[in-house]
Amino acid sequence: MNFEDIKAVQNLLSKPQKIVVVPHKNPDGDAIGSTLALCFYLQSIQQEATVIVPNDFPKFLKWMPGNEQILNFEKHNTQSKEKLQEATLLFTLDFNHLGRTGQMEELLKNLQVPFIMIDHHQNPEDYAHVTYSDVAMSSTCEMVYNFIEYLGGKDEITPEIANCLYTGIMTDTGSFKYPSTTSRTHKIVADLIEKGANNTRIHNLVFDTNTPSRLHILGCALKNMVILEEYGTAYITLSQEELDRYDFKKGDTEGVVNYGLTLDGIRFAVIFIENKEEGIIKISFRSEGDFSVNEFARMYFEGGGHKNAAGGKSNLPMKETITRFIDCLDENKEALLKVAKQVESGDNF
Ligand code: 5GP
Ligand code: MN
Repeated sequence: MNFEDIKAVQNLLSKPQKIVVVPHKNPDGDAIGSTLALCFYLQSIQQEATVIVPNDFPKFLKWMPGNEQILNFEKHNTQSKEKLQEATLLFTLDFNHLGRTGQMEELLKNLQVPFIMIDHHQNPEDYAHVTYSDVAMSSTCEMVYNFIEYLGGKDEITPEIANCLYTGIMTDTGSFKYPSTTSRTHKIVADLIEKGANNTRIHNLVFDTNTPSRLHILGCALKNMVILEEYGTAYITLSQEELDRYDFKKGDTEGVVNYGLTLDGIRFAVIFIENKEEGIIKISFRSEGDFSVNEFARMYFEGGGHKNAAGGKSNLPMKETITRFIDCLDENKEALLKVAKQVESGDNF
């Protein structure tokens, strides 16, 4: 954040505001962790602040401190709308364009109050009064830590804030293994543990919470995996019928896409998940090395995200979606093979 932006934020926070903090639709650990942490911090400096999520999120995040304060736009619609209409300042966290808030988009677009964006996705939209965007950051939680530091509030980091920020950094870095994890990330995490983040317990609460439905869906997904060696690609499909059969619950497919990348020679992994209610196939893309799934998702599947992790959707049925996907792979064969060569020769080490 530059000096002018910090000044602008300080100026906004120098008077009492009614603040709403919003993450993206289908919020993950980073989205929930960053919004709750920021909300706690704003409350600690005597601001009124509320988190409103566009829709529900997985049970394995519901232990988080402040969870009971969260309004769900879908479930608490009237109350959420009232809060938004009364708001004098909006924070949008962990997403790069208002379309990522689903049903909240229209309302947010029509609000005539300043917005502050804190986000690490590529290609940020230009809607905010202050845009703190940095695609090199591991997570929005790491940015919220920086944001609090910029405002001189590091001493205000309570165990609640530390637990929330730790969670988001842990989930968005794949437990500190993705390339976005820097020495600074580790220093921040060390400081959060000193400030009261219970690292072992957070790992247990987020990752050791398997349910029969989750494991059955994982089994089905792995069985359905198709390996396309000629493209260095592995993809998984899950139909609505399969999800129903195994009693799918929100969050059950989280992380499943990553299994493809653990195969030797595979550097592009994709999962296609049918959602009959929304009439779409929701897609997650993951890559290793220089193949940009952000660009791939933007170009072909109305999506985006980061270089190595992105999402998108298809309005075609599953079979047609896969046919189209393979055509897209063919168009990108050269780029995919180049990555393969780099990985093999160790160029990107
Ligand atoms: P996931 O595959 O875990 O849902 O998402 C991977 C990354 O891509 C996350 O950072 C997520 O915010 C982003 N993402 C997921 N779906 C979409 C989408 O439809 N559009 C855009 N722009 N980003 C997405
Ligand atoms: Mn994130």
